[in-house]
Amino acid sequence: MIIIMLGAQGTGKGTVAGILSQKTGWPQISTGDIFRKNISEGTELGIEANKYIANGNLVPDEITVPMVKARLEEDDAKDGAILDGFPRTKEQAEKLDSMLAEMGRKVDLVINLITPREEVITRILNRRVCSNQQCKATYNLTMHPPKVEGICDKCGAKLVQREDDSNEESIKTRLNIYDEKTKPLVDFYQAKGVVTTQEVSERINRLGQDVAEDVLKMLKNN
Ligand code: AMP
Repeated sequence: MIIIMLGAQGTGKGTVAGILSQKTGWPQISTGDIFRKNISEGTELGIEANKYIANGNLVPDEITVPMVKARLEEDDAKDGAILDGFPRTKEQAEKLDSMLAEMGRKVDLVINLITPREEVITRILNRRVCSNQQCKATYNLTMHPPKVEGICDKCGAKLVQREDDSNEESIKTRLNIYDEKTKPLVDFYQAKGVVTTQEVSERINRLGQDVAEDVLKMLKNN
């Protein structure tokens, strides 16, 4: 079972993917997390990727696509995987289709998260992440604050703001790239009949947790 998380930055893709991964045992494959881990470890891939990430631009496919392919070929992904942050362009979606076809697999479900834009910007500015790469828990200073300011509830490590979240220019660039390059993927996958669109919003009091529960019910009934 291959599941793809679609949705702008700050809609809660990571939260939904994390819960689904916990409940199904399929790994959450977040390209952003893989890049950040490489950046913190100072690998060659990390140094190269950071040239793009720091400004909110997309990392070139020559780096991103083989990285995803290698991750999907790992043993823990043989029964299923939840892709979070990939594909982000039509080219990546087509490359994903061909790599999955070679493996005798396909995209089974696309979860498209939608949130009003003003809410998304506030959420990104209020997002704090655990600096421990093994933990990576995410908090929101207003909606889901840590018990002790600046400290991760789960592992006690320091909470930090992602470099690309602290910079309004970078946030705007990322949201523009989403609208222009990633949003058209909703139609791409809708044509294949695999999309479920889910609103995540304080406006209707529906959080990532609620979406994850509904998707788990859908998976059970299929
Ligand atoms: P995210 O954590 O998904 O917001 O990703 C953080 C940053 O990593 C993005 O702003 C991009 O610079 C880069 N990135 C993540 N996934 C991809 C992808 N599929 N293609 C290109 N760049 C990516």
